[in-house]
Amino acid sequence: MAGAFALIWGTLVGLSTLCFLLFIALWSERQKLSLFDNWLNSPDRNRLPNLNPAWDRVFKSFIKIEKNQKASEAELNRALTRFEQAARALPDAVILLSNSRQIEWCNTKAEEYFQLELDRDQGVQIDYLLRQPSFRAFMRSQDMAASLSLRLPRPSIDRQVSMQMIPFGEEQTLLLARDVTEREQLEVTRRDFVANISHELRTPLTVIQGFLETFEDNPAEDTKLLTRGVKLMSDQSQRMNRLITDLLALSRLETSDAPPQEVVHMSRLIESVRVEAQALSTEKHNIDVHASADLKILGCEEEIRSALSNLVSNAVRYSPKGGTISIEWALIDQDPVFSCQDQGVGIAPEHISRLTERFYRVDKSRSQETGGTGLGLAIVKHILNRHNAKLEISSEPNKGSQFSIRFPKTIVSSK
Ligand code: ADP
Repeated sequence: MAGAFALIWGTLVGLSTLCFLLFIALWSERQKLSLFDNWLNSPDRNRLPNLNPAWDRVFKSFIKIEKNQKASEAELNRALTRFEQAARALPDAVILLSNSRQIEWCNTKAEEYFQLELDRDQGVQIDYLLRQPSFRAFMRSQDMAASLSLRLPRPSIDRQVSMQMIPFGEEQTLLLARDVTEREQLEVTRRDFVANISHELRTPLTVIQGFLETFEDNPAEDTKLLTRGVKLMSDQSQRMNRLITDLLALSRLETSDAPPQEVVHMSRLIESVRVEAQALSTEKHNIDVHASADLKILGCEEEIRSALSNLVSNAVRYSPKGGTISIEWALIDQDPVFSCQDQGVGIAPEHISRLTERFYRVDKSRSQETGGTGLGLAIVKHILNRHNAKLEISSEPNKGSQFSIRFPKTIVSSK
């Protein structure tokens, strides 16, 4: 058009027309650019400005880029949420600290162990919240190879945690804490157990060693002493033997698989336990039995025999001559219950909850006089746990005791 104008009206008019047309074109593009800018402020895929095809391509490419960006942003958010959920659910406490030891983030276990609340305590320096001197010294040391064992007071029992620091990100620190209460308690139990066994074995060994030394110094001169010595040594070696048998029984119970589900004819089993107890009592006690003949259960016959026989032999051993021991086997409130009642020495209430602990005895000398190892009720408890049964004890000093085993109703056998 500018060329035609130049031919008709001269070069000047042609050039002016060209400039005017260029100006119009630039102005129009500027308008489109401003529309694009407005649209960018709140991009809406459904309301694209109606421009020329070139601009349409720009819009479409832009929409594609934006869509991809949104998708990767959503993926990143999902990954972050998953990571936070995983860190929250960790079985150990995790606290993320800034370089000035301020809490940046912590998981649920950390809130529970240290009584923190992330919303409330975010940004607070951790040593203001945990003020134990050993903890503060540990934090200040920044020694990443060190670990700290810390006791945290709780309303019920104290918790023992093992803590460690791990360098993280840019001068941040991850503080990890693991609950080691159970491990520590197990270690104490193990130490006590070893000490108890050593103590239990030392007494008979001392007796045997004493006699052997006496006989060494005066070989067979005093026949009375010799006879007495041999008898006592034999008693003590039997005592050690019983102890070892019970210890092996306990360890078998602790390590073996779930008990077999045999049909146990309880009334027959109780009868054989009664015969055994009568022999132990040397006919000095009356043993009455009332057992429901049809009531059978599922379980390990050998283990159940051992539990019943422990309870009945205790009744004999802790009852004076002439006492009556009543054994019952029946359904009580639909649960199969075995009970053994005696008229013996009884037990004061403060001892009852501890009777099933290993080597716990109310009267040590009476237990030993009657051949006790202090492990009988611990064995009973293990056996009952394996059969989901409970031991119920009621007793009154000088009146007698009742030990009952309450089996779950599901254990009753219909065969
Ligand atoms: P022990 O070998 O010493 O009898 P147990 O584990 O069988 O060990 O029993 C633990 C303690 O419980 C006994 O030392 C005794 O003091 C007490 N005890 C158990 N049964 C009776 C009972 N029937 N009457 C009184 N005391 C009992």
